[in-house]
Amino acid sequence: MSAAPVRVRFAPSPTGMFHVGGARTALYNWAVARNSGGTFVLRIEDTDAARNKPEWIEGIVNALAAIGINDSDPTFEGPYFQSHNADRHRKAAQQLYSAGRAYYCDCTREQVKERTGSEHLGYDGFCRDRGLASKEGRALRFRTPDQGETVVVDLIRGTPAFPNDAIEDFVIARGDGSPVFLIANVVDDLDEGITQVIRGEEHLSNTPKQQLLWEALGAEPPVWAHLPVIVNDKRQKLSKRRDKVALEDYLSEGFLPEAMVNYLMLLGWGPGGDQEILPRAELERLFRIEDVNASPAFFDVKKLTAFNGEYIRALTPERFITACAPWLTTPYAPWRPEAFNQAVFESVASLAQTRLAVLSEITSYVDFLFLDEPVNDEDSWNKAMKAGAADVLRDARAEYATAEWEVENLKAVLVRAGEKHGLKLGKAQAPIRVAVTGRTVGLPLFESMEVLGRDRVLTRLDTALERLITQQR
Ligand code: GLU
Repeated sequence: MSAAPVRVRFAPSPTGMFHVGGARTALYNWAVARNSGGTFVLRIEDTDAARNKPEWIEGIVNALAAIGINDSDPTFEGPYFQSHNADRHRKAAQQLYSAGRAYYCDCTREQVKERTGSEHLGYDGFCRDRGLASKEGRALRFRTPDQGETVVVDLIRGTPAFPNDAIEDFVIARGDGSPVFLIANVVDDLDEGITQVIRGEEHLSNTPKQQLLWEALGAEPPVWAHLPVIVNDKRQKLSKRRDKVALEDYLSEGFLPEAMVNYLMLLGWGPGGDQEILPRAELERLFRIEDVNASPAFFDVKKLTAFNGEYIRALTPERFITACAPWLTTPYAPWRPEAFNQAVFESVASLAQTRLAVLSEITSYVDFLFLDEPVNDEDSWNKAMKAGAADVLRDARAEYATAEWEVENLKAVLVRAGEKHGLKLGKAQAPIRVAVTGRTVGLPLFESMEVLGRDRVLTRLDTALERLITQQR
């Protein structure tokens, strides 16, 4: 590796959403830049005019900021825009033409197919020595070497060698003169002084071509690193049609950015040791691109969810309360806005904090406090309102009418009511819990009742009893 300061880059094309795979690429580049004292360049590859929407570009910048990559850190440089460098791309293509490293070609796809008998064999070099001049409609092709091989130095994959005679004379500028991605990407990397290109595996097949361009432009190629593909539970490449892939969707569902960062960094790499949940600074300090695994990385939503639960539990109570806020208001929350009471929420927040896996679940834990009536969930009702339920409800209700309204006592009442009808506390709790909260799982029952208050609890027990009696008739 050269001794020059490390300069890496993240070069997304605006696509309208920010893929979790893109987030991982960005995080790895960021970690390399940070732990080598180098620079992270953000370059937006926006040459496709149809995709050049300001809000999409903003989406990239915001998504990066959400995972802690932004210009408040001196490691960050940019954003640069590929479209601003169009002249340089054209000049580079012309430079290759003037040096005899590229030639004009007027072959149509059909002609090539006819000559080679296949769509897949690539260009057959027909125009190589025809000496065609530049003209509207003629593409410019790079003349690849006939002999030897192009050896790519890849920090993850070793040194894959590509025989040059298998690399077709590829197009570098289209018939209208516009340079293609392959060369624009190389020229930008060159101009930005990039020393390591760390990107997705899908670009590996471009790499020998791009390395030839670096050499032909008289520059020393960078070191490459192609990150493993990310797959779903069926071992299929993660795709936006099939899978949830937008970083934003995870964040808006209540995955914490720090949990996402930690989990994404483990997609293809591990810090060693038995601890996978580590502070970000530690992950960045330990990260080595050479240690990234070449085989596909499984995006395990269950594991991510478990990580997220751990991160939620590690929040300070204040931060947990703040983090829940978006889900406690309209339009997300199911209750009338005026029915919400922040102090009541805060009194049960710590009970919820230990139970959530994603923040959006918060409403289902606390809605019984703010809805006029508990949710009506048939399954929960049927599960809880088994034989003996009406008896327990009736007896408990009678005692709760005058009992001291305090957790231990609320529990003692129910223990007694259960015993009378041969039910253990767990079984006796179920009908009370569903009557009071609408659900079979939730916050600890007696704490919930204490906060909800005697009047509302009694009303709900009465409503449940009436419903049971009506059912039994
Ligand atoms: N713009 C390309 C993409 O979004 C990245 C190219 C690269 O990293 O070299 O896939």
